[in-house]
Amino acid sequence: MFDFADGSREQVDLLGGKGANLAEMTKLGLPVPPGFTITTEACRYYLAQGEEPQSLRVQVTMALRRLEDQLGRRLGDVQDPLLVSVRSGAKFSMPGMMETVLNVGLNDYSVKGLADAAGDERFAWDSYRRLIQMFGRTVLGMPGALFEDALEAAKRRTGARTDVELPAEELTALVESFKQVVAAHTGREFPQDPREQLDMAMRAVFDSWNTERARIYRRRERIPHDLGTAVNVCAMVFGNLGETSGTGVCFTRDPATGKPGAYGDYLGNAQGEDVVAGIRNTLSLEDFARLDPASHAELTQVMRRLETHYRDLCDIEFTVERGKLWILQTRVGKRTAAAAFRIATQLIDERLITEDEALHRVTGEQLGQLLFPQFDADAQRELLTRGMAASPGAASGKLVFDSATAVEWAGRGEDVLLCRRETTPDDLAGMVAAAGVLTSRGGKTSHAAVVARGMGRTCVCGAEELDIDVETRTVKVNGTTLTEGDVVSIDGSTGEVFTGRLPVVASPVVNYLERGLDAALAEADPETADLVRAVDRLLRHADRTRRLRVRANADTAEDATRARDMGAEGIGLCRTEHMFLGERRVLIERLVLAEEAADREAALAELLPLQRADFVALLTEMDRLPVTIRLLDPPLHEFLPDRTELAVKVAVAEARGEADPEAERLLAAVDRLRETNPMLGLRGVRLGLLVPGLYAMQVRAIAEAAAERRNAGGAPIVEIMVPLVGSVMELHLIRDEIDQIITDIAESSGAQLEIPIGTMIELPRAALTARRVAEAAEFFSFGTNDLTQTTWGFSRDDVEASIFATYLEKGVFTVSPFESLDRDGVGALIRTAVASGRETRPTIKLGVCGEHGGDPESVHFFHDAGLDYVSCSPYRVPVARLEAGRAALAADTGL
Ligand code: PEP
Ligand code: MG
Repeated sequence: MFDFADGSREQVDLLGGKGANLAEMTKLGLPVPPGFTITTEACRYYLAQGEEPQSLRVQVTMALRRLEDQLGRRLGDVQDPLLVSVRSGAKFSMPGMMETVLNVGLNDYSVKGLADAAGDERFAWDSYRRLIQMFGRTVLGMPGALFEDALEAAKRRTGARTDVELPAEELTALVESFKQVVAAHTGREFPQDPREQLDMAMRAVFDSWNTERARIYRRRERIPHDLGTAVNVCAMVFGNLGETSGTGVCFTRDPATGKPGAYGDYLGNAQGEDVVAGIRNTLSLEDFARLDPASHAELTQVMRRLETHYRDLCDIEFTVERGKLWILQTRVGKRTAAAAFRIATQLIDERLITEDEALHRVTGEQLGQLLFPQFDADAQRELLTRGMAASPGAASGKLVFDSATAVEWAGRGEDVLLCRRETTPDDLAGMVAAAGVLTSRGGKTSHAAVVARGMGRTCVCGAEELDIDVETRTVKVNGTTLTEGDVVSIDGSTGEVFTGRLPVVASPVVNYLERGLDAALAEADPETADLVRAVDRLLRHADRTRRLRVRANADTAEDATRARDMGAEGIGLCRTEHMFLGERRVLIERLVLAEEAADREAALAELLPLQRADFVALLTEMDRLPVTIRLLDPPLHEFLPDRTELAVKVAVAEARGEADPEAERLLAAVDRLRETNPMLGLRGVRLGLLVPGLYAMQVRAIAEAAAERRNAGGAPIVEIMVPLVGSVMELHLIRDEIDQIITDIAESSGAQLEIPIGTMIELPRAALTARRVAEAAEFFSFGTNDLTQTTWGFSRDDVEASIFATYLEKGVFTVSPFESLDRDGVGALIRTAVASGRETRPTIKLGVCGEHGGDPESVHFFHDAGLDYVSCSPYRVPVARLEAGRAALAADTGL
């Protein structure tokens, strides 16, 4: 228990955000009503033991007495009673998630004392009915409607349009009926003892930490469940004491846009909840200045004082009681991504913070939000349903229910949204063609979500209300049936799904990244220009500050261009598998079906020039920058036709008494390659060792492409990466072959070829034996996707849909380990591999190319682990640059 006068803002763990800031403002001498804070420690005890610590009761008594003595009034006294508010306040703000009870201390006697003291009968009874209503709902757990119905009935009886018009007698009667409602519903009278009210309200606030909505909120915001909330008990001041009273909320700058200058709402003759409830229209701060110039002037001073003290945007709740200004709450205000960037740079210019501090105050997540197109905020919209915000952006298009239709319609220039129960690798072409992806099953780490994020496609997943029928090409949702071709809009930043097409505004930040600062500024309005300048400034500061290099995962020259636009300093992972799809797939089929060496070689010979051309294009685009090309990784059956289709084909032919030898051969091949656990089967380096000529062809294509570029005057920097290595022996065997090919091509082409050969570390064994693996590897690239799968023994595509919701719910982890790196497990393997890899080969280059390379928290880990670079999808590159800068700051300056 701390009096406001005894705490400070540093004690946020113990006092919660609200309590710490009330204490800080009290220390600053601002007009804060006195009170005290019951600590989060008491809450944790209460939640664990089911009752508050004995000593707390005593401490509350002492604090209450000090408060009473200070004000010269007693809680719930029959004359001029002291009333208190009881408010929650956790370390991290959880707006609207927990409970508040106002006017504690009113009963059948003190209500009269309040009426006398205020000289306002109506006000006193209105305060009392508000107490019973709030107490009933939050402390006694009664349905709010019970009270609202009685209130409506009273309004009807008297013809009052709003609460304010209810006369005192009517409010007196209303209090009586509220009390009856309480007695009828709970079987006991509304407590008349002020201290009992206080104790019950305090417990209700403690309990509200664990309500369903609070738990959901914390999961989403990654706030730990074991912090508990503080409880702030504060002397009541009243904004509803007539025309010289009122209440409001203000921000020292605009939290929506970041525009300088105060911004706020004021409501005369009202209590705080009226402002939030939006019952009456609020006034602007300018109107408030005209209405009550003295209070406005004082508020302006308080705002300046707080902003100077906190050196940041502050969000303030205030009340004017009969011309006297009271500050009820402040905190460093939440803001949109755009406002975060603009305010941070404004504060640098105002010499209030340093560039380092400004960088610390913006996050990669916010920058990520600024990169996506958004629906025009002013547009009319009709919400259809909601799913998970899986991959940000705003997309509108015609609904299609299968990949082929998506490709076909997109081919004729239509915008389509691919709507599936869930997606599989077979849907890839449709996902590429679609403007967005919408699924009814799976979470943020489902196939749809992961792939969509990887390619920067907007995605809403797990919209469970969607009842999709692929047969009839319809989807039912909340009584509406939509058919293929109906237009829908999805917001991947909020998870919302709307009917119809909503207008979209492009991201000015992407425009800046792609075309440079001057071009972006030339066509921006002043507000947008300010934002773009802010992003440019902080991103450049991050680049100056960071030690991690940032590369991109890119497979084509087109991806590479985007990667460079976004600031990538190389390609950390070129997955060669896409080069085996499309028209080339038949060549793989031939390779797999080959019975004679000659057939196999013919297929490889046809693949070689195609691969070489791919690499020439990539190396041309990335001239002078490192490009890490990974040899083929996935199992070969992925390139063969679907087994069921083949089986049907063969059966149909047989039924007709015919034969389809081609289909039979393919089916036999599919069966031969079929694996129970393909992820753990014949893939990665194992393919290289078992399928003769495959890796050799790829290496030859890479080396020849590099030689061609060099002979053409280019400066290719290419690295060859071997996937899924578990033992150094595998790498030695493959290297023997690779080294020979490179030497041969260097000789035959006359080009000087220095092509480092390294490996992915994506199996625990590779990490644990990294000392040996480094003997044969010039670099390690941590494949944290597979390393997470294999460390946990999770098959990603299976577990995300089936067990992750429960695991998150039960707190096995607070965030999916596929989204943010599991530091304790996977992270420990990485640290081991880093240390032992460097022991063997001090100059070994270390990077990461799993999806975690673009995740803000994981980037901080990679910095701390001492990696040289992270590689992520092109769209995440700016995010990684910013976070790498912030990570270096955090490590060097503690910011
Ligand atoms: C990885 O496993 O982290 C990786 C980058 O490889 P892929 O995602 O292609 O398996
Ligand atoms: Mg992998």
